[in-house]
Amino acid sequence: MGQAKVKQLRAKTCYLCGKPLQGPTSADHVPPKLFFPETKGLDLLTIPAHPGCNLSYQLDEEYFVHTLLPMTKGSAAGDAQHVRVRRKMDAGKNVALVNMVMDEFKHVVKGVHLPATRVAKLIDHARFFRVLWKIIRGLHYHHSGVILPEEWGMRYWITARYEPPEEFFKMYAESGREVIHGAYPKVFSYFFDRFKPENLNMQYWGFHLWDSIIITAMFHDPTCGCEDCQFVGPQFPEAMAGTIKIPR
Ligand SMILES: [Zn+2]
Ligand SMILES: [Zn+2]
Repeated sequence: MGQAKVKQLRAKTCYLCGKPLQGPTSADHVPPKLFFPETKGLDLLTIPAHPGCNLSYQLDEEYFVHTLLPMTKGSAAGDAQHVRVRRKMDAGKNVALVNMVMDEFKHVVKGVHLPATRVAKLIDHARFFRVLWKIIRGLHYHHSGVILPEEWGMRYWITARYEPPEEFFKMYAESGREVIHGAYPKVFSYFFDRFKPENLNMQYWGFHLWDSIIITAMFHDPTCGCEDCQFVGPQFPEAMAGTIKIPR
């Protein structure tokens, strides 16, 4: 796509809903502003969006940050975030949310007792997915001018500090392919790449949050023409050989 066309599209379309931008627009932060313990003097990436579309993510973004925060303790950026949340809690904000997140740490998962030193973190998949996908859509739009669909399938992996990352990431990191983006890497940095194995067209994204958590995500590019991507609805099996089809 030509630069001029990309710019034109950028000015006219809301990347969240894909509809024309008319009337008042809001500057949507990608990643969310609340990722940053302090935003004064920072030059953050924003993308114009409908105020309503932007606002509809706000609570899920709060959840996203709070649910990851306990995994960041010990890193400078993570600790700064803890201080910010503590301040907000002292001011009476977010208490319910923080309590809910702390409840997500369980010593017993599906009847299995974990060793005393380990707790499992349960995550509200729908909320987490929604925010991660929004960030990817925003950055994808920023880099290419192409809006990814609002509803899409994606696999993701969350790696806490000192834990080994998923297999593909290890291979990928060794390949030397990754190009790191992000003006404030202590808080947020990322890479993205494409793979075209056989007849697939895959995107692979990685994020480093608060200098402590790695999130990787993989999904089929919308232009992928593989069997799964062409699947448009339920298909009914052919009648088995030897069975009789009853005419209607
Ligand atoms: Zn919109
Ligand atoms: Zn596909």
